[in-house]
Amino acid sequence: MTTATSLLPALRSYFGYDSFLPLQEEIIANVLDRRDTLALMPTGGGKSLCYQLPALALEGITLVISPLIALMKDQVDGLEANGIHARYINSSLPGSEIQQVQEQVRRGQVKILYTAPERLAIPGFNRFLHSLDLALIAIDEAHCISEWGHEFRPEYRNLRQLRQSFPSVPVVALTATATQRVRDDIINQLDLHQGKVFLSSFNRSNLAYSVQIKKDPWNQLLSLLQDRQGQSAIIYCFSRQETEDLAGSLKAQGFNALAYHAGLDSATRQRTQEDFIHDRAPIIAATIAFGMGIDKPDVRLVVHYSLPKSLEGYYQETGRAGRDGLPSDCVLFYGYTDKARQEYFIKRIEDAQERLSAREKLAKMADFAQSPVCRRRTILEYFGEAFSAENCGGCDICLESRDLVDATEIAQKILSAVVRTGQRFGTNHVIQVLAGARDKRIRELGHDRLSVHGIAKDRTRDELREIIGGLQAEGLLARSQGEYPTLAVTPAGREFLKERQSLNLALPKPTPATELNRPRKSGQAMEYDQSLFEELRASRREMADAQGVPPFVVFGDVSLWYMSAQFPMSLEELASIHGVGQTKLERYGSKFLQAIQRHVESSGLPPAELRRSQPRHHGVQPEPPKLQRRTTEDATNELLSQGLSVSQIAQQRGLAETTIIGHIERLSQRGVELDLAKLLPDNEALDEIRKAFEVCGAASLKSIWEYLGTQFTYDTLRLARMRFRRERQAPD
Ligand code: ADP
Ligand code: ZN
Repeated sequence: MTTATSLLPALRSYFGYDSFLPLQEEIIANVLDRRDTLALMPTGGGKSLCYQLPALALEGITLVISPLIALMKDQVDGLEANGIHARYINSSLPGSEIQQVQEQVRRGQVKILYTAPERLAIPGFNRFLHSLDLALIAIDEAHCISEWGHEFRPEYRNLRQLRQSFPSVPVVALTATATQRVRDDIINQLDLHQGKVFLSSFNRSNLAYSVQIKKDPWNQLLSLLQDRQGQSAIIYCFSRQETEDLAGSLKAQGFNALAYHAGLDSATRQRTQEDFIHDRAPIIAATIAFGMGIDKPDVRLVVHYSLPKSLEGYYQETGRAGRDGLPSDCVLFYGYTDKARQEYFIKRIEDAQERLSAREKLAKMADFAQSPVCRRRTILEYFGEAFSAENCGGCDICLESRDLVDATEIAQKILSAVVRTGQRFGTNHVIQVLAGARDKRIRELGHDRLSVHGIAKDRTRDELREIIGGLQAEGLLARSQGEYPTLAVTPAGREFLKERQSLNLALPKPTPATELNRPRKSGQAMEYDQSLFEELRASRREMADAQGVPPFVVFGDVSLWYMSAQFPMSLEELASIHGVGQTKLERYGSKFLQAIQRHVESSGLPPAELRRSQPRHHGVQPEPPKLQRRTTEDATNELLSQGLSVSQIAQQRGLAETTIIGHIERLSQRGVELDLAKLLPDNEALDEIRKAFEVCGAASLKSIWEYLGTQFTYDTLRLARMRFRRERQAPD
């Protein structure tokens, strides 16, 4: 007999996963028992697997009803990439191709068939279905059957007939709907009274929620995006016009952004969705029309540029972030005028009952934004789920309890940056200089050559903005009036610098995302090699483009993260990576392996050494790595700038000295300013080494080491070499 546990080998070989997510096992067991199922799981909970895995084990074909034609191709491509035979039939296919697919299905060459609900009304299609051996009917986005839901689809009513004409075929209905009324409606409409309901928690623990007062939304948005270069983001706007304005301004700033709203023609909308899904345009400024068709797993940021109408909408829209389970951020900009604007429209609703309900929903939404209560708790309690944790660990309220901290050093840095740039620039520019940005404007002004350039790289732009606000409040900085306000140091600020005074500020603790607890947690987060991750991302793009599939169909971010943390050096090692099933291994394995091998070679370290520099997990299933802005090299750099020696750093971090030197080399390659003087031997010795390099040329370190009579260590030679390379690159 097939049990859920007996499907574990298939889970590994087809999907590349070693265990089930919460409730998956229970749901799959129920499905395998041929009983009806209603699965209520949040977005990213892993619903698809609940019918895809049983489909492999059951005799016959699994029919999947899905409302979105645009998504079916990606879903089928994803299954095929895992070696599972899947097809779809919908109106996007020409008749001849539909015939072909039906033929393949009849011959038993297809395990999973996707179709849209409207097709069920076509008599010919019904006859075709009756000629098949149906094992299971899966109804995706089951809330579409309910008028109470936000995505009601009249065609979903066809499902009642489908159910009646196949009374003995079990049904599994799946939805991420959080409201009770819709759930009850699904059970009634689909007659699931005899079935079993599985309700998982709707807490999206990998999402960090925060609310920002809408002071200077454009610059607030820029800060968020600049901290997440190249990552996918959705910005929900109030109006069509606002989406276009924002997308235009973002483009002018060099971001790959597009607008999306219902007023665009369908070809443009389609193209925009595809550009987003294929990572060609990672940023979309959209109205809420952009939503259900979006099944992108690696959206890292959802911004609400203005206040949503309800918490349902807010939960739904923010839910599009982090489907792959990796930490992601949801930021709401809240300003009173936005609420007033919504109220203006509510006043014009004619139906009194509807008007009242809209007003109540908006009030709840505004409460959420304004009250100092854990955001997660507010959301979950709104949907009737109790949340007992004292501190959710992932919202601004829980994380941002302000601490009085010593801000002397950062204040000095900021004031110096204002002085050095001539007191002629606004907050945003000063932040760019402090953060070490090298965009065109900075370079043209020569601000990348100032000593203050990049001196506050360790802070996020949001933190810098907060601190600058604090310095204004303390009267050390002043902001001019007018359309383009500039910052200037006040007399008090000058005195602060001159007298070397100290300063304490009440500052929020660091940004939520970096501190988030993972949902599938066990042990500590893994560190990964960021540059390898970027290289693998590039390989993924190449392969995906060549095959005309979205990059995430090749491998998800989670798999790439594991690869850049564990450095698999053989196909066998690669096969054990999360998300690498048998088919993907055969199809993509060697290409990715080459990229990893190349990277390892160029690092000059044996893979074991590289791996040792990443914390390992024993016995337990390693947890997907946290989305970390800091790399292992950055951690080394931090200690380095505190004046620790290589051996001290090695000791503190529990790594080999060679590993630390490797970090320093990579930091140097990345162009990070390093103070090598402390690490190097005195000038006399350095000259001697320099001569040896000149004599031996680009020969191996070994020959130089021998030439010098083995008086210096390899590590010293490596550091010296770095220094010489830098000298050559430095502008005169
Ligand atoms: P939903 O449809 O509920 O939003 P998906 O089916 O898209 O969720 O799954 C969310 C993510 O979780 C996907 O990236 C999927 O590959 C991954 N996933 C699903 N099941 C597992 C599992 N058992 N182990 C690890 N990851 C899984
Ligand atoms: Zn909280």
